[in-house]
Formats: sequence, C-alpha cells, structure tokens
Amino acid sequence: MKYCTRCLLPATKPDLSFNSEGVCSACQAFENRSVVDWNSRADEFHEIMANYANKDGSNWDCIIPVSGGKDSTYQVIKILELGYKPLCVTATTCDLSDIGRRNIENIKNLGVDYVEFSPNPIIRKRLNNIALRTIGDIAWPEHVGIFTIPVRAAVQYQVPLIIWGENSQNEFGGPASAQDSPILNRRWLEEFGGLLGLRVSDLINGFGFKNYELLPYTYPSDSELERVGVTGLFLGHYFPWDGMGNTLIAQAHGFTSLGLPVEGSMVDYENLDNYQHGIHDYFKFLKFGFGRATDIASLHIRRGRITRQQGLQIVKMRDGKYPTTYLGKNLDQILSRIDVSIEEFDDICGRFTNKRLFETDQNGVLKREKDKSLIKINYDNLD
Ligand SMILES: [Zn+2]
Repeated sequence: MKYCTRCLLPATKPDLSFNSEGVCSACQAFENRSVVDWNSRADEFHEIMANYANKDGSNWDCIIPVSGGKDSTYQVIKILELGYKPLCVTATTCDLSDIGRRNIENIKNLGVDYVEFSPNPIIRKRLNNIALRTIGDIAWPEHVGIFTIPVRAAVQYQVPLIIWGENSQNEFGGPASAQDSPILNRRWLEEFGGLLGLRVSDLINGFGFKNYELLPYTYPSDSELERVGVTGLFLGHYFPWDGMGNTLIAQAHGFTSLGLPVEGSMVDYENLDNYQHGIHDYFKFLKFGFGRATDIASLHIRRGRITRQQGLQIVKMRDGKYPTTYLGKNLDQILSRIDVSIEEFDDICGRFTNKRLFETDQNGVLKREKDKSLIKINYDNLD
C-alpha cells in the first residue's frame, strides 16, 4: 500500500489522487483553504439566503438535515445565530443508540421545529441484510436515507433550500470538481453518496420490494424538484469547517460525547448515533486497508494537532480492529437485529477482504490476532 506523505490516507481509498510529491488530494484541498477569502464566502452565503429565505413568515427559511451528531448540532447553532428559521429533518439511523437519541432531543431544545422521519424498520433490516451480503456495506439504507429523506421533505414542505454540513469530498479527499462544488444534488449523491452500485431499482427488480416500500430511499423526480426549486449547499463551503471545533461548540450547547474513544476510532465525539457504524468501518478496513482512526488521525495531522508519526502510532493501535463491540454493544446483539449470525458475518467478511493487504500463512489463510483482528502488511510507505 502507498500512503500520502503528509497524512496517513492510502492510495486504496476510492477517488483519492496524489500529486508528484505523493501528497493526497485531501491534504491539497485543506491547503487550498488557507487562500480562500472567507469573508467573501460569507457574503456569498448571505446573498443566497437573501434569495431563498422566506420573506413573509409563511414558511421556514431552509431545511437542515440533522443526525444529532456534533456537526449537525453545530449547523443548527450557526444557522440560528445567523438569524434564520430552519426546519430540521432527521432520517433516523438504522440502529439508533441511546446517546444518539439524547443528542437528537438536545437539538430540538436549541429551539427549532423538527421532523424525525423513521423508515419502516422491518424493511430496513432486510435492506441492511441484503446490502451487507451483496456489496459489503451494511450502511446502504443509512447513506441513501440521509441524502434522500431531507430532499423529500424539501418537496413536501415546499422549502427549497437544504443546508448540508461538510463536503466530504473536500474534507476526506475526492475529485477536484467535487471538492470545490458548494452544491449537493442528485449527481453528487449518485457519485459519492455511498450507493456502491446498488440502486433502488435493483432492489425492486432483484429482491421483490414494492415501490412504496422504498419511498424513503427514492429521490424525488426532477419535475418535483423543479416545482419547488430545491437546491442544496454545503455550509462548509462558506464557513471554515473543523469537526473538533464544531464539537466544542456543540458540547457547550448540550451535545453529549461518549467519554472514551469509540471502538475503531481515536476520538469520542463522532459516529455515536448508530450501533452499526462499527461494522461499516470494519468493512472499509477489509476492502481498502484503512479505518476510521486513519481518517481522524489524518484530519488532525493536517491541522498540526499531532505529528504524522504520532498519528501512525495511534492508527496501528486502534484502526480496523474486529468489531467485537460498538458503543459498548456486543456484535452478536447488533447482528441479530438484522438476522445475521457471527458465523455468517465472518463468512461475509472473508468474501470482501482484500487478501493482498493482510498477512496470510503459507496456505493463503488470513492470520489473526487473538481478538480475530487481521494483521496489515504495511502501515506506511516502504523505503
Ligand atoms: Zn494526505
């Protein structure tokens, strides 16, 4: 595996590119932020709001998609501070945690109107099961729901402007055209929203779902979007974005962190709202050889909070461990909800593991630690 010479992201990460000095596109995008004129970006934002905000008190100014996490808590605080009236929309996560519930209630109490949309849990468990088996990503319904349900709400409530948080293509690396775009639309969703080649139409044709059963995952039609004039933008394009800074602000407004590092990560303040996150991150590790700790360490290295060497030590310690628990909940309990046993899970893991990234014995069988974790061949560029 080849790694960025500045942070710890590997070349196996989808859509990540490198310059001639071996610096990844996420680090380059971060560097570009220092030359952004944030004052003029803020002016741009207010111009957009002047255009879109409701003028006569008959409707909300914008929709904010919120998960209850530190970033969406910050988004709500920021929009309220700027003087706008948001309608907050939550697409309930696949397996909502207790701490996630607490943080949702906290956002409501910031003083906003709030819609919590919960797709049919029985359909959803089937979708988790199918997505895990077919594309090795339990989080398919979660990702599609997060990006689709708020857009459906925009059509439903006739609120054209949706204010998303960060552009993940900018923060975590992606094609330049996607990094600089302030807009999230259907094309962005199809390319970067985590569909991984599984479309709603495949589920209807291949797995016998009815159209209406997948409404929460079905993007509104172009004519519906045009009728309301729906547009989405990333708040992180207009105001500097920093997850840790957002956390500090969110915590001061009642947001609860876990209090100890989340399994597979190195911080205690994110991915707290869904017990299935650990499985999603583990499959990323099996497929591409890096997990959540690498993402987070890289963010902090870029911002100069830790050195690359310190980040590397943390990643070796925490990244990609077998997900025995998540937020303290046992794997078998998390899996039984979607009708998957530990044996089946291990079998599915095996099918999606890129065996070239991990140590094997002379018979080609993957070597494991006592806790079932795999052993990566190299964590850094080899001399
Ligand atoms: Zn980098």
